Amino acid sequence: NPTRCSVVIVGAGISGITAAKVLAENGVDDVLILEAADRIGGRIRKEHFGGVTVELGAGWIAGVGGKQSNPVWELARQSNLRTCFSDYSNARYNIYDRSGKIFPSGVAADSYQKAVESAIQKLRKQESNPDVDDSLLPETPSKIFICRAPKTPIELAIDFILHDFEMAEVEPISTYVDFGEREFLVADERGYEHLLHKMAETFLVTSDGEISDARLKLNKVVGELQHSRNGVLVKTEDGCVYEANYVILSVSIGVLQTHLISFSPPLPRWKTEAISNCDIMVYTKVFLKFPHKFWPCGPGKEFFIYAHERRGYYTFWQHMENAYPGSNILVVTLTNGESKRIEAQSDHETKKEAMEVLRNMFGHDIPDATDILVPRWWNNRFQRGSYSNYPIYVNRQLVDDIKAPVGRIFFTGEHTSEKFSGYVHGAYLSGIETSTALLEEMRTEKERRIENQSFL
Ligand code: FAD
Repeated sequence: NPTRCSVVIVGAGISGITAAKVLAENGVDDVLILEAADRIGGRIRKEHFGGVTVELGAGWIAGVGGKQSNPVWELARQSNLRTCFSDYSNARYNIYDRSGKIFPSGVAADSYQKAVESAIQKLRKQESNPDVDDSLLPETPSKIFICRAPKTPIELAIDFILHDFEMAEVEPISTYVDFGEREFLVADERGYEHLLHKMAETFLVTSDGEISDARLKLNKVVGELQHSRNGVLVKTEDGCVYEANYVILSVSIGVLQTHLISFSPPLPRWKTEAISNCDIMVYTKVFLKFPHKFWPCGPGKEFFIYAHERRGYYTFWQHMENAYPGSNILVVTLTNGESKRIEAQSDHETKKEAMEVLRNMFGHDIPDATDILVPRWWNNRFQRGSYSNYPIYVNRQLVDDIKAPVGRIFFTGEHTSEKFSGYVHGAYLSGIETSTALLEEMRTEKERRIENQSFL
């Protein structure tokens, strides 16, 4: 016999855990959280590397210092999470060429300014002519581009920074407008996920600091959702069946785009079309440990850029001395095609490529990395990418369709956040929004039932 409950939540990332907490606070206790992995957290994930804790997924609390307080910043403060201020803006003054020369700051800043202006101009033109054929745009994830295709290594590097980092979203960026422009790197041995554990502890039973509540089931890969007017049957790959009045599905847009979960009856066309129209960004932080540091430290030096003739080739670097002094760790970020390429090769090969780039920048005498860590978000079948990336001209309908429930299946997660998709706070707020909508639906259903009974 299937196990019965009011609500099954698929996924124990921050959106799923938040949704469960809101339901519990509103008296809905018979909830089951089914998580495919052997841990909670999803894309918030720490690992021990080179003597410190590094964040394979979300690393920053973005949007701090504004008029409104970022709710994730509040959670971080309540749980005394150690963070340190990050200032990306200096990266543009630390651009190295292949011979290890730093581009004079005037040239770098000037190219940067031109690229930004050009991108904005192009956008404005397009805004005034929204009928322009989107398929003509090049394959950048954000689909912003500069008028003249970038050609030189410095232009390519700046184009990469603009489109795969800072301006991957359209200005004005709601996160900065609403919560402020400052960003803080989480540098806490307990990891970013400590926030989540703190939250889970408020409504799930724990023993010895571990969640021991039977309502959270790990290693449960949901493979099928059979839904009807009366309820949902949830089937897992290990043959378990759960029967619920409602399901909250928090898996990433990348997972929704695959066939990991089948729906019976199938999802309607408007839903599947919306899901396939949202891009997923792959963003990979590769960690390298060294016997000693050989890169410049001090104010304005945390981030540096490598200008190569191939776009996105080991372009964006960060040292971890601000977060963990003496850790001797460098992080290089790759995205999309480059992420997929390195995920497919051995870590040894990736280390060799990264060392060659570092030797171009800092000379041949630098030591070899003693360890490397390469997260594989793209090949993780429970993620299939890092975060959603809406097309530039998001029509409202697309976001509405992505988050709209289908019968008794409710959708949540960062990709359903209209203003903050791609961020931890987007996922957190979506968990609140979805569970609030479900509570409303449950109330309405109860009222309907009472009315019908009194009618009979
Ligand atoms: P998830 O955390 O993905 O939770 C979904 C859960 O569903 C997962 O635990 C998954 O295992 C589970 N699941 C999947 N399929 C199944 C199944 N079939 N059955 C059962 N369970 C299933 N955000 C920031 O704010 N700042 C940053 O600096 C930042 N950097 C990032 C860097 C990287 C590399 C990545 C990957 C993400 C980053 N993000 C950042 C984004 C942020 O991590 C996410 O927006 C957020 O954590 C998503 O939470 P979620 O609950 O929506 O999804």
